[in-house]
Amino acid sequence: MNTGPAATNNPAATSAPTSANSAVAKTATAIVNIASLVTNDPSLGDGSPLGLIQDAAVVIDGDRVVWVGESSRTPATDNRVDAGGRAVIPGFVDSHSHLVFAGDRTAEFNARMSGQAYAAGGIRTTVAATRAASDEALSANVARFMAEALRQGTTTFETKSGYGLTVEDEARALRIAAEHTDEVTYLGAHIVSPDYADDPAAYVELVTGEMLDACAPHARWVDVFCEKGAFDGDQARAILTAGKAKGLHPRVHANQLTYGPGVQLAVELDAASADHCTHLTDADVDALASGNTVATLLPGAEFSTRAQWPNARRLLDAGVTVALSTDCNPGSSFTSSVPFCIALAVRDMGMTPDEAVWSATAGGAAALRRTDVGRLTVGSRADLTVLDAPSHVHLAYRPGVPLVAEVWRKGVRTV
Ligand SMILES: [Zn+2]
Repeated sequence: MNTGPAATNNPAATSAPTSANSAVAKTATAIVNIASLVTNDPSLGDGSPLGLIQDAAVVIDGDRVVWVGESSRTPATDNRVDAGGRAVIPGFVDSHSHLVFAGDRTAEFNARMSGQAYAAGGIRTTVAATRAASDEALSANVARFMAEALRQGTTTFETKSGYGLTVEDEARALRIAAEHTDEVTYLGAHIVSPDYADDPAAYVELVTGEMLDACAPHARWVDVFCEKGAFDGDQARAILTAGKAKGLHPRVHANQLTYGPGVQLAVELDAASADHCTHLTDADVDALASGNTVATLLPGAEFSTRAQWPNARRLLDAGVTVALSTDCNPGSSFTSSVPFCIALAVRDMGMTPDEAVWSATAGGAAALRRTDVGRLTVGSRADLTVLDAPSHVHLAYRPGVPLVAEVWRKGVRTV
């Protein structure tokens, strides 16, 4: 499968088509005078995977895009918004975050940056703080970090449980997450609960039994941290298979800290995404290239743990679909900024700016098996970000600069 920017041989590249001029209501809103528009539809504009249209307009009606094309051909509408010659991209789709938590781990980060190594066990600190927090405090935290992400252009968020690790605390985390997003992931298998340190098998039984029963109604996805110090391949298989039997779709924390079975297990079980993919064998890359599982890269984690970068270039050259997300969590990647991750991916992981922007929008959508977000085409959700720049390339060219000028989510200007 290859839906990514590596697919450049598009027959539409020689023409400059625009979307079909379907009936557009007078009451719709046209955003005009866009210097460059990323549609992620290779049949539009320059025919590249980004479907880049210069001097463009987007018309939105309600929560949907109803027209995209060259500004000069914009259908007549009552409402016009001038983008002022700035670039517009689809809202970012952040397909991997851990926002239901309390407390922070400043001391651990500070120690790590003073020379200590990252180990999966640090999660226990957050588990203790999360269990002790009220529902209101947890919900307020999720709202705060999602608002922070929205201001930086993220319009679709996935988030997980995984800091409760009891039946009640995991179900509570998912209920709270579901108040804020539809993309909710059951991660009872984040680490073996400290309460089961002497009997991991019994914890796996809980995660695949009573805890799953309590959590499945609140989640769309099931996830497992398949890693030394967390869950091995057999345990991960049992957890994902049990989740599937309850109607949850798998995704996997795979091959982050060490080589291991996570990636190939993800492909075998048709997981939507294998996340991290930092330590990959050739067989892992081949498996991803031949399956339907997206490789989601999370450079905020490598940045915050001073670890080796995942090799995006190797994956893209092999034809793997790559997504780029934040992994926002208080331990190993406390950033909600997709633009920051784009800059890292371009500087240190071998991605071109076009590829990184595609991966943070259409790639994230693919990692959530969504086609209604991560693109700006007729019928897609009206989620778009106006950049204080003439081109999406500035996201990598001007790292650390707050370029997000406006964010429209479901057709409403929210930032
Ligand atoms: Zn994660």
